[in-house]
Amino acid sequence: MKQCEFCKETFVPAVKKTRFCSKTCANRSRYQKALAAPPDEYRECQGCGESFPVRYRCGQKSKVVCNPNCMAKLKYKRKKAGLPTKTNANHTNWGDIGYGNRKREQAMAKLIPGPTALEEALWA
Ligand SMILES: [Zn+2]
Ligand SMILES: [Zn+2]
Repeated sequence: MKQCEFCKETFVPAVKKTRFCSKTCANRSRYQKALAAPPDEYRECQGCGESFPVRYRCGQKSKVVCNPNCMAKLKYKRKKAGLPTKTNANHTNWGDIGYGNRKREQAMAKLIPGPTALEEALWA
């Protein structure tokens, strides 16, 4: 028997060196580590102008705003300027401006339970 390093449940490992009870726990652990790691760069938010951290490994490579409120602000600004505000279904892309790989970010965020962690995962 072994104890999962993420959820602390005991399990019977299929391979001796297995550290997690499931793929989900392995993914969650990896994602939490990626979130805790220092950001790859800081960017200026297109909504509020503040700088915010960007972590490539969390699917934030082309993120342009720091939180959902700023996304709304940015969309409003674009609407007023007559620019497209609808994003491409698969890869959120406005042609001139990228907005991360939202699907990937959301999928990864789902790995972490709890609303606070989810918020963090999406917008940290
Ligand atoms: Zn586990
Ligand atoms: Zn902002």
